[in-house]
Amino acid sequence: MTGIQSTMMDDYPLTLTQLLEHGRRVHGNSKVVTWQGDHAREHTFAETYDRMERLAAALTSLGIEQGDAVGTFCWNHQEHLEAYWAIPCMGAVLHMLNIRLFPDQLAYVINDGGDRVIIVDDSLIPVLAKVKDEIPTVEHIVVVGDGDASELGRDVLRYDDLIAAEGDGFSWPELDERQAAAMCYTSGTTGNPKGVVYSHRSNWVHTFGASVAGLDVGVGDRLLIVVPQFHANAWGLVYLGWVKGADMLMPERYLQPEPLVAFIEQERPTCSAAVPTVWNGVLQYGEQRELDLSSMRWVVVGGSAVPRSLIEAYQERYGIEIVQAWGMTETNPLGAVASPPSDATPEESLDWRSRTGRIAPGVDMRIVDDEGSELPWDGESVGEVQCRGPWITRGYHGVSEDPEKFTADGWLRTGDVASIDGHGFMQISDRTKDVIKTGGEWISSVDLENEIMGHPDVLEAAVIGVPDEKWDERPLACVVVRDGAEVTPAALSAFLEGRVAKWWIPERWSFIDEVPKTSVGKFSKKTLRERHDAGELEVSSSVVDDLALGQRADGDT
Ligand code: ADP
Repeated sequence: MTGIQSTMMDDYPLTLTQLLEHGRRVHGNSKVVTWQGDHAREHTFAETYDRMERLAAALTSLGIEQGDAVGTFCWNHQEHLEAYWAIPCMGAVLHMLNIRLFPDQLAYVINDGGDRVIIVDDSLIPVLAKVKDEIPTVEHIVVVGDGDASELGRDVLRYDDLIAAEGDGFSWPELDERQAAAMCYTSGTTGNPKGVVYSHRSNWVHTFGASVAGLDVGVGDRLLIVVPQFHANAWGLVYLGWVKGADMLMPERYLQPEPLVAFIEQERPTCSAAVPTVWNGVLQYGEQRELDLSSMRWVVVGGSAVPRSLIEAYQERYGIEIVQAWGMTETNPLGAVASPPSDATPEESLDWRSRTGRIAPGVDMRIVDDEGSELPWDGESVGEVQCRGPWITRGYHGVSEDPEKFTADGWLRTGDVASIDGHGFMQISDRTKDVIKTGGEWISSVDLENEIMGHPDVLEAAVIGVPDEKWDERPLACVVVRDGAEVTPAALSAFLEGRVAKWWIPERWSFIDEVPKTSVGKFSKKTLRERHDAGELEVSSSVVDDLALGQRADGDT
């Protein structure tokens, strides 16, 4: 050891409390704005901080101690934002419950998390009431709003009364940065959902990482947080917005295009974030009437692949830059943000932003083949994405080992298949379970559906693999056609010619009213597969063009 060892930096704990205090002191005048359908209610950060102190004091009075889980069953709003900070900073664990889970899954996650208190919106009481007899750990239910709570069949506390009963000031305890701050469950497409526990440290470094990766939010911005607070840690935006002093605009339950646009037109956000389905809906609404989205500079879109046609449409019609991002509940969640290089021309910028994302500084990422060997970053080699880093989970709550999801050397197996280029831009081609394996070759369902959605008459398209006698599996394209438009399989096949390899072009097409969605608004291919297996999808088959398929063997791509 040399003497220089003694002059190192402070090992200062990376807790959310430090960031909370920063937001209060530095950005006390910034605002939290919650939409009520026809008007907004507002509190400054200074007032919000005061309410957070009262919430922490009230929960302490209810017996909540360090390490205890407190569930939230809420839309995005003022009180949910208060819970996001107050619960972790008092040393307890914020458990964001997905309001769209099936009742048995909801009961499962509440019990698995051991929630002692649940904060619920009055509008969501009927949903929570479905599990009221199956959640023995829950000692108190705190209702936001003054709506009827009798369906819960027990005495409830009211959020406003609770915080009004407390005085000013709360002494935030000193915390360990490795303490649990919050937990979210994966949406459990197979089996029960699994709990991902975020630490103070992971949230702290993720906040900085998101900013460095390109989420350009600051004082003067108005950040519209459409991504639900119960989905993947609200993409870290509640923490980022507070620390950077951006006004935070919370849409409550008004997520349909019409009320969402009313909120945008009145409160004029400058930036936003949500899954593609939301922006697709707004775009469609814009075909019925003129929308004023002129306040918005950029929108982060992720959670599933973002079709280039969507990015182009926002650019052309509204001058809004869509930036694609990739992440998972397990990755806090940002792992990659498709920020274009600053010298990119508008056309190049569009190309960059259409990719899945550039690996965020702080995240180690690799792609591996079936044998686990690492593949080069050449933009062509395709393998499973694995990652690790200070905001990537090492396991699931209560699960001791999970070799399917974690490698022996500690990397998260994401279940996504991608290539990475020499600039660190990744391109997801599919989820492992959605890849279509046809005659020994792979078709990317994501690429195929993105191309189909580029057709002007197509609103949504999801492609699944279905059994085929000759080729093992072939793509079935499930297509939603725009109102009033008519389109045939032959026309769509012709449209795809030249856009994808001939042997990718589906012979099976199903025209459906809507692509089923998961609890967080993504295409649910699992549901489509189930419908197909149950014979519920009407499939029109064009003649299998053996020549086109056969050309693949001759190297036609
Ligand atoms: P769920 O698996 O239930 O959807 P998550 O919200 O954690 O839960 O989803 C993470 C997954 O979402 C990723 O593994 C990936 O498959 C998909 N995903 C996220 N962002 C993108 C993107 N930009 N492009 C393609 N897929 C994405």
